[in-house]
Amino acid sequence: MTTQDPGARPGEALIRALPKVVLHDHLDGGVRPQTVLELADAAGHELPAADAESLAAWFRDAADSGSLVRYIETFQHTIAVMQTADNLARIAREAVLDLAADGIVYAEQRWAPEQHQDGGLSLPAAVEAVQAGIDDGIAAAAADGHIIRVGQLVGAMRQGDRWQEIAELAVAYRDRGVVGFDIAGPEAGFLPSRHLPVWRYLAEYELPVTIHAGEAAGLDSIAQAVHLGQADRLGHGARIIEDIAFVVDGDPAAEGLSGDGRGGAADLGRLAHWVRDHQIPLELCPVSNLQTGTAESIAKHPITRLKELDFAVTLNTDNRLMSRTSMTHEMKLLVDEAGWTLDDLVDVTVTAAWGAFMHHDERRDLVEQVLVPGFQKVEGALV
Ligand SMILES: [Zn+2]
Repeated sequence: MTTQDPGARPGEALIRALPKVVLHDHLDGGVRPQTVLELADAAGHELPAADAESLAAWFRDAADSGSLVRYIETFQHTIAVMQTADNLARIAREAVLDLAADGIVYAEQRWAPEQHQDGGLSLPAAVEAVQAGIDDGIAAAAADGHIIRVGQLVGAMRQGDRWQEIAELAVAYRDRGVVGFDIAGPEAGFLPSRHLPVWRYLAEYELPVTIHAGEAAGLDSIAQAVHLGQADRLGHGARIIEDIAFVVDGDPAAEGLSGDGRGGAADLGRLAHWVRDHQIPLELCPVSNLQTGTAESIAKHPITRLKELDFAVTLNTDNRLMSRTSMTHEMKLLVDEAGWTLDDLVDVTVTAAWGAFMHHDERRDLVEQVLVPGFQKVEGALV
């Protein structure tokens, strides 16, 4: 790779070649369309489209429709074909291969084992099947010249009553592939206070925690995630922007997500200060947020302002299938529509590496890996 101005706008080929990190990527949201087709056929599950191209378009359009019912329906079709050990292993393997091909060197794959028991799988059998697929994928990627490391994030569904059981599952498999715990599903109305003992349990076992917060619900949800859930990271966290008042041209304007307060002074509330003071990584997912209405455009997505304000910003895909996205695509959009530079892309990658659910020495090694030679910053200068 040749040395290039870090302030330059990198093109797609360079972005794809950058070593990347993704912390927020759902296993059931990243299945290959062709795989959904093949497995649905074998399982006798009816799909809304008959070929891979139109199925991919259907997933994106349904997720784009603004209808929560249709959005949730999309996951019914992936989860329906993820009910056997073989299918889970295949899908995990393919996810690792797809991420490796996109230049990702470290990934965390999150999923909710309780949604994969319709075929009679036990929770441990489901976790072991996914791990077998991840291990296979890592080996196959390595044989192809791509070195990638992948951890499982085991999550509970917020609307279910199995938080403690799933937390115990995550702890039981912590040395066999599981790196942390998450809660996913409907955020509003299902906050961390719903089941307090689980957070105490996870803290006692020192298992890292990330909590979806600040996507469909606002500051109360974020406050609960960091204070009650003791979250090490926030899934999305975009709505922390609601605790920041921007002053533009002398006019105080608490503009929220749709405003454009860039360049103006920022007045942080207590919670925003807390999240920034503790450098709690925000797992931001711009394209997904456009689909769910959390943000109105890439240019106005809070990721850019939060990064300018020195929050611990990481960039993620959320659901590659439903959003037809990839890390390269997310980065390219930020370059094209929000003015990001190569330096910005490396910055969020380094932040993600420091936020990975690994030990400090392993994170340090990963940081060294993602600081691309030739772009590495030394005391603010380039080498
Ligand atoms: Zn998510």
